[in-house]
This record gives sequence, structure tokens and C-alpha cells, in this order.
Amino acid sequence: MESFFFSEEEQAYAREVKEFLRLEARSHVLAMDRQNEYPFELLKKMGQRGYIGVRFPSRYGGGGLDMMHEAITNEETGAQSYALACARSVPHHCAFIIANYGSEEQKQKWLPGIFKADIITAECITEPTGGSDAARMKSVAHRKENRWIIKGEKRFQASGAVADLFIVFAMTNQDVHPTKGMSVFAVEKGTPNIVAMEEFDTLGWRGLRIVSELIFDGVDIPAEYLIGQENQGFAILMDMLNSERILVASGLLGTARTCLEISTAYTLEREAFHRPICKFEGVSFKIAEMATRLEAAGLMRTKAARMLDLGQDVTKIAAMAKGFAAESAYWIANESLQVMGGIGYTTKHDIERHFRDIRGGMVAVGTNEIMRLVVQREHYKEFAQKAKSK
Ligand SMILES: Cc1cc2nc3c(=O)[nH]c(=O)nc-3n(C[C@H](O)[C@H](O)[C@H](O)COP(=O)(O)OP(=O)(O)OC[C@H]3O[C@@H](n4cnc5c(N)ncnc54)[C@H](O)[C@@H]3O)c2cc1C
Repeated sequence: MESFFFSEEEQAYAREVKEFLRLEARSHVLAMDRQNEYPFELLKKMGQRGYIGVRFPSRYGGGGLDMMHEAITNEETGAQSYALACARSVPHHCAFIIANYGSEEQKQKWLPGIFKADIITAECITEPTGGSDAARMKSVAHRKENRWIIKGEKRFQASGAVADLFIVFAMTNQDVHPTKGMSVFAVEKGTPNIVAMEEFDTLGWRGLRIVSELIFDGVDIPAEYLIGQENQGFAILMDMLNSERILVASGLLGTARTCLEISTAYTLEREAFHRPICKFEGVSFKIAEMATRLEAAGLMRTKAARMLDLGQDVTKIAAMAKGFAAESAYWIANESLQVMGGIGYTTKHDIERHFRDIRGGMVAVGTNEIMRLVVQREHYKEFAQKAKSK
């Protein structure tokens, strides 16, 4: 982390998070990947140190810092494990909705528990019939006197199988354009009529207990569990996704950085044809390209986080940062594995685990294609605005 882009305080904060995780995370990370264990204990320790809910107000138990610090925390967590970075950041995404759109009562009820990892959360957007086209979701919620009744099926929720609180998106008005008829609700674990809860086995992000089937069959919740205004859900989702994409980029940057560190060290030590393999340009140029892509992805992420902290619209830069970080991280993990030869394919140096985790970054929170969809839409919009003002 270079001083030109980060304050002394931010650099010290990054070192502190890194050191904590270096000492505490490894056994939990391996248990996640190998035994599919959710990192309850580590998340609680992180919560005690303020590493969950970093940028939320301290009066609700948050860290009182900003998005840049939240991003730094996710980057350092991702340096240990992207799956862990995801477990750390899902609470951020759910808390973002409650903190920015919820009532005072909702904030007091759920935020402190979320930040201490006493309340595990899951964001319920994707459904079996589709994720990219979120506006066309089929889950519905109907108002019945002072209750909401939710009916629908969700899929792919990270932390879903162990969640205490589901943040659920559902349609509340099907007579208007879907972007104007969606709402968001809080559903607590144990609410009657959550009738199915099955899990996927996944390539990476293991230990995150990702849901394959989550069925709400007439789940009945109090009216005051609606978050924000009725039919405001799509706007809330878009707002939340901007932050989420910056954090996904940050976590992937951390994981890719670790891959580059491991592969650089290996190429200095490993010998072939009577010399260290870093002496072959076929190897060292790959390292150069990895370092370059990591640098570019880092700059984009940092710009996005800084813009968000300044209150600027980050829709385009957040999608750029997420898409570019995902593709760069995948390239770095793949080439790291390549320059390490056979040992890169084994569990000895963690590269294979990072490679598997990083691959999920190209799909989750909007695929690479959807990131391009957002970027081109925003680009043409800006172009038209500039042309009009000429
Ligand atoms: C590890 C992991 C964790 C996840 N965590 C969560 C979570 O916590 N909560 C949650 O709700 N969801 C979660 N998801 C779901 C994820 O957000 C969706 O998988 C993703 O948005 C894609 O949706 P889909 O799988 O339905 O693919 P589809 O939308 O069916 O897309 C299939 C393919 O078509 C392409 N495509 C679709 N539309 C277009 C277009 N307009 N232009 C070009 N190409 C297009 C896509 O890019 C993709 O390649 C997670 C997924 C994974 C893999």
C-alpha cells in the first residue's frame, strides 16, 4: 500500500488488520475450505475488533470509519481467503440496507448484533429462474392488514444456510414496471413457512454455506419488517450493489495480491536449466503482467471507494472496478498457478484454493457481462449528456 494514495492512518490500519488476520485466520480459512465450516468464531473476533461494519455509525456498534477503510479491511481479509472476505462483507451489504433505509427501530434491533457477528445475515436476491435480470424476480409479498406475506424461492445466498436474518427482495406491485414494484423485507430465522433450506456444493467460496433452495411459502412477517418505502426495493438494491461491487473488487485484489506474492517468491527459488526460473522472460514477463494488472485494478478500486466517500455517483466506476478486478484476479491466479508448475496445482501453496475462490468473482454480484452492460449504459448516458450540453 503506497503512501501517495493512502494516508498514514490508513496504512497503519491496513497493517493492523493484516497482522490480526495473519495470526488468527489460517485455521478458520482451512476449515472453511476443507470442512465446509462457517467461520462463526473468527467473525466474532473480527466483530469485537470493529472489522465488521467498519463504515457504519458507532452509535449502532459500527466502526465509524469510511468506505476506504471498509475496502482496506476486505482487501486484507481477501488476502487470506476470498471466501472469508465474502463472509465478512455480506453483513456489510445487509447492514447497508438497514442503516440507510431502515427505521430507527430496525437499526437498533439488528445492526449491533450484525456488527458483532451475533446475527448472521444473507441477502436474498437471486432466484432459480434468474439472477442477472433481477428486476424480473418472481417472489411476491402481499400486505394483509398489519402483516406482509412473502411467497417465493431464492437461490445462491452466501451465508444463507446459517443465517439468522434474511434480507429479502420481493415484488409488491406487479401492475407497474418491475423496477417500480419491488420492496425489501427482513425475515428472521425460525419464521414459520420457510419450508426448504438446501445447500450447494461449490467449486470455491466453500464454508460460506451457499443456499441451493430457500423457499418462502407464505412467510408471515410484521408490517414493520418492510425496510424503506413500499416499492422502493429496486432503487435500494441498485444503491447497495454499488458498495458491494467495490468490496468484491477489494477482496479479489487481496486474494490476487497473495497469489502474486506466492508465485514471485517461488520463481526466485525454483531452478530449471541451471538457473532460477525468474531468469526466463517467459516467466518473469508473466510476473510483470500480473503486477501491472494488480496495480491497475487497485487504482480503479481506490478511485471508486474515494468517490463513494465523497458522495459521488459510483455506478460506472464500481462496475468497472468489480469487472476489472475479477478478470485481473482470475488472470493472476491462473498465471501464478502456471509459473509454479505442478506444485501450483496441489494444496501446498494455497494457489489452487485462491484460484477456485477467485473464479466465483466473475459470476457473483453481477457477471462480467453484466458489469459491461452497466458500464456501457453509463458511458452512453454520459456521452449523451455531454453532447447535449455542447
Ligand atoms: C459464489 C456465489 C455467491 C453468490 N451469492 C449470492 C448471494 O449472496 N445472494 C444472492 O441473491 N445471489 C448470490 N449469487 C447469485 C449471483 O448473483 C448470480 O449467480 C449472478 O447474478 C448470475 O445470475 P444467474 O446465475 O441466474 O445467471 P443468468 O442470469 O442466468 O446468466 C447466465 C449467463 O447469461 C449471461 N447474461 C445474462 N444476461 C445477459 C446480458 N444482458 N448480456 C450478456 N450476457 C448476459 C450472464 O452473464 C451469464 O453468463 C451468488 C452466486 C455465486 C456463484
